Amino acid sequence: MEGLDRERPLSLYIHVPFCSSKCDYCAFYSVPSQAVPDGAIGRYTDLVLGEISALRREWGRPFHTVFIGGGNPAMLGYRRLAEILRAAEADGMPEEATVEINPEDLTDGIMELEGLATRISVGVQSLDPRTLAALGRNSSREAAAAALSRLSGLPFDFNADIITAVPGQAIGGTLRDIEAIASYGPGHISFYCLSFEEGTPLSRRSVPLGDEAEAAFLRAGWKLLSELGYRHYEVSNFAKEGKECLHSKVYWGLGQYVGFGPGAESSVGYGRAVSMRDSEDLGSYLRRPEQTVSFLSADETKEELLLASLRTAYGIDKAEYMRRFGEGFDARYGALISRLDSSWYRDDGSRFALTEEGFLFLDRIILELAMAI
Ligand code: SF4
Repeated sequence: MEGLDRERPLSLYIHVPFCSSKCDYCAFYSVPSQAVPDGAIGRYTDLVLGEISALRREWGRPFHTVFIGGGNPAMLGYRRLAEILRAAEADGMPEEATVEINPEDLTDGIMELEGLATRISVGVQSLDPRTLAALGRNSSREAAAAALSRLSGLPFDFNADIITAVPGQAIGGTLRDIEAIASYGPGHISFYCLSFEEGTPLSRRSVPLGDEAEAAFLRAGWKLLSELGYRHYEVSNFAKEGKECLHSKVYWGLGQYVGFGPGAESSVGYGRAVSMRDSEDLGSYLRRPEQTVSFLSADETKEELLLASLRTAYGIDKAEYMRRFGEGFDARYGALISRLDSSWYRDDGSRFALTEEGFLFLDRIILELAMAI
């Protein structure tokens, strides 16, 4: 694989492009079950297994992390998921292996993944039937509560996703969701505002609450999550001690990862990243997986790093920035940083990171700093 840096760890992402039906807010690439051609799931699995074994021939050692996401990976069935994990782990266990599962698919079959997956991520979104209806979510309150209850007794770490700032929802509703979901004991919670993606049924029927209202939902949710013992370590992610998602940290640190499956992205290299994307169409993927490759310049790589790392509470390690690009972080961005509101960031000399207040202005801050590149 072009640009692969053998000195650095490598992570693996598998995108499973199947869902039982489409949720109204979702713009991820996935095919609802009634539109999946006969035999497509078996053929998809064989292709992914083939891609993993080709990568293993080149890499030949354990992956740092593995993540099977979607879509809804459970649509493959637990046996196929176990087969994919066994292939990905044939050279040794990764430090973390996560599988996303929709609540209604969290059956006893999950135990097929014991010893193969370390972490399960479940898209709860809300436990309020009205909020789920406003979202047009393809899953129910009962299924979500049953999945959380089951997970709390199983030998996996688990994450629950929660969506906030949903039209019709009050701040008290989002706080009830957080409290109820946290009571099942997930080590990790993803908490984010509903986004209105172009072309989705949701964006045709309703509009966002607006920046100020969204900020009020976020501030209230962040405060409660912190009181419940979850550390806010990335704009939308919260973890109990030792439960941060290692795979996501690879993305945010602009580490190396290879993605397989329709629409999956890969990024390898260091000072200059090589970015790849699989064709975002099940039909062409099944005919022949093909990747579009872009060779980023050092400046484009710096922009990618800003975009990814400023999302985290760790921000940018200046010594690592120097190793990667051969230039000082302060020399490049210092003048622009001095013009930012000082409540938006922390700088202890070795790291530059945004505060929670800064997270609310993330896009603006990134745009301003990118002007120095
Ligand atoms: S289950 Fe997830 S990936 Fe599938 S349509 Fe719903 S939100 Fe999108």
